[in-house]
Amino acid sequence: MSIQESIKIQDMGDIGLVEFDMVGEKVNKLGTPMMTRLREVIAELKKSKFKAVIFKSNKNRIFIAGADIEEIKGITTKDQFDKVVAMGQQIFNELEDLPMPTIAAVNGACAGGGCEFIMACDYRIASEDSSTRIGLPETKLGIIPGFGGCVRMPRIIGLQAALDIILAGKLVNAQKAAKIGLVDQAVHPAIMMDQAVKMAKELIAAGGKKRRKTFEPKGMMNKMLEGALRGVVFSQAKKGVMKMTHGHYPAPLKAIEAIKKSYGMSDREQAMKIEREAFVEAATTEISKNLIHVFYLTEMVKKQTGVTGGSSAKARDVKALGILGAGTMGGGIAFTAADKGIAVRMKDINYDAIGKGLKHARELWQKEVKKKRINKFELTQRMDRVSGTTDYSGFKSLDVVVEAIVEDMEIKKKVIGLTAAEMRPDAIIATNTSSLSVNEMAAGHPNPQYFAGMHFFNPVNKMPLVEVIRGEKTSDETIATIFELSKKMGKMPVVVKDGPGFLVNRLLLPYMAEAAFLLQEGMSIEVVDRTYVKDFGMPMGPFALMDEVGLDVCIKVLKIFKKAFGNRVEMAACMEKLGTSGRLGKKNGKGFYKYDEKGYRTEVDQSIYQELGLSSPSNPLTTKECVERGIFAMINECSLALIEDRVVETPHEVDLAMIMGTGFPPFRGGLLKYADTIGSQYVVDQLEIYSSKGAARLKPSTPLRNMAKNSSKFYKS
Ligand code: NAD
Repeated sequence: MSIQESIKIQDMGDIGLVEFDMVGEKVNKLGTPMMTRLREVIAELKKSKFKAVIFKSNKNRIFIAGADIEEIKGITTKDQFDKVVAMGQQIFNELEDLPMPTIAAVNGACAGGGCEFIMACDYRIASEDSSTRIGLPETKLGIIPGFGGCVRMPRIIGLQAALDIILAGKLVNAQKAAKIGLVDQAVHPAIMMDQAVKMAKELIAAGGKKRRKTFEPKGMMNKMLEGALRGVVFSQAKKGVMKMTHGHYPAPLKAIEAIKKSYGMSDREQAMKIEREAFVEAATTEISKNLIHVFYLTEMVKKQTGVTGGSSAKARDVKALGILGAGTMGGGIAFTAADKGIAVRMKDINYDAIGKGLKHARELWQKEVKKKRINKFELTQRMDRVSGTTDYSGFKSLDVVVEAIVEDMEIKKKVIGLTAAEMRPDAIIATNTSSLSVNEMAAGHPNPQYFAGMHFFNPVNKMPLVEVIRGEKTSDETIATIFELSKKMGKMPVVVKDGPGFLVNRLLLPYMAEAAFLLQEGMSIEVVDRTYVKDFGMPMGPFALMDEVGLDVCIKVLKIFKKAFGNRVEMAACMEKLGTSGRLGKKNGKGFYKYDEKGYRTEVDQSIYQELGLSSPSNPLTTKECVERGIFAMINECSLALIEDRVVETPHEVDLAMIMGTGFPPFRGGLLKYADTIGSQYVVDQLEIYSSKGAARLKPSTPLRNMAKNSSKFYKS
């Protein structure tokens, strides 16, 4: 079939109905072939007898997903970008200039180029289906809207609402889009097309006039902010971006610049030129390449099954999930599964715990209701999916059980055996353990091929990563099932081999342990945490992170690592002292930081220095050394985990896991993309310098040295 089939015109008398249905793809996306075809269609419409045109999509729950990222990825030079963007702008201008009124009828995702397309139409109707999400996510990829989005959106919905969407890369639902004037109507999906046809007929009856929607601010203040005081809006927007990003993401700043220069301009060509130039500048940065790489990693997971090597194992469909333990993790897992339509049976040893688990889930859904993401009926529906028990009633009908009880090998093994006896012989049990051996625990299961790890991160509802742990005896079918179940729960799974700390915690531990050495060498908690957050872009500094994890847990895991990895793991003396200090971190409100009664971190607890036998911090080390010691310790450990131990198969999985599991700054493309950018030779040289000061733990690993010797990279292409 040819690309002609991807956009077709149906003759409905006075109305032309244009249907998007990209051949051979699940979604409609705007790459060169589709844009070329669109140009032909627009030319046909221009010459046609139609008095109005409606655009719709025949894809399931997708209008137009956006530009073709594959194509953007392949472009490297400024000239190439300029050409592609100029063509896109021109085609959308031709759409805007069609002689008859045009209506976009939007059902499903309408992002980036899709949103820019509908803004070049005269009218927009959106279906209230939950899949309808409209907006401009470009800044999340390090670029800016380049097909007229920076020019048309502020004109249609006003400066303030447009900046809100463009700078955060937001998508909004149909109701919100109607509220801010991005669409003219939000209607039930069943009547959307009828409404579009009705609107077209009314427009024809009224003379078929074109319109160019221009935002009308309400109230004196808004009028001033859109007019004489717009400088304030731009400077506030810039301040907001700097606060959120610490200047690490240039795209939102470029978007502000482009909008500031082009807003209100009557010369469309000139305005588009400003937008285009800003786009080209943003798109050719290393940061944009890194963010597109991260986007790719997330797309990669969507296509994966969790099993490789030509395995034909298929995932079983999981309709009902059991959870053992209704505590912090069990409650979060129950919420996440039920939220995605999976029936949940939660077992604990007493009803109090179940009550707490259910209450926690209800509170999370109530927050969703408050944010208008779901309604009260949907809340009830979700709550109805979760039931609790203190025995094994109902377990015979479950497909998978996730174990999230106390972190104790003997108890876990016993409970796994008892649970397996109450389930179908081929039912799967997955443990959420964060520090125990999945292989050892598998001995508790009578059929260990049906046993694996499913390691969620805390808080489960927010953290996207799931490490799917493959034990020595785990079957491909079990891995495929847990992998698919994780995706069904809206998570990003990465298959990891069993071993201390699996992948993410194994890499995080050296980072946290190094922070304790920095503290011992006279650095202050504030300076270290601030350096990692502001200079490097981590979401949280190592001390704040240790408080979150629990200082007792950190020390316990460090000891496990020391046993497993020997001299490579060292524990600073101050960390040993912490173990007996009664400071557990956030959970008891006493850690490196102080916490208020609601549990929010307030300030560094200055008494900790004296308590740990340290003198007042004098911050003798450079911020460069601070950052490099922690980050390079992770790279060093990763070279062993990936190259020697093959904990995961590819650098892609490491980077995805680190971004989704720890918030490693996406603009750096991931830990190993960053390592490749600075080069293995540099990492080895710096580690040599730092380790020569008596820090054997920082000696560069053999695989890393080999990489430096061969000038090779973690990513082979
Ligand atoms: P928690 O103490 O909050 O909850 C454990 C729950 O298990 C309690 O409600 C307890 O009553 C229940 N329980 C104990 N024995 C049971 C049994 N025999 N049958 C059924 N229920 C039983 O603990 P948590 O923080 O939710 O951790 C649970 C598991 O998840 C642990 O293995 C932990 O290592 C792992 N994990 C925790 C985190 C975290 O940050 N908390 C992160 C990842 C993984």
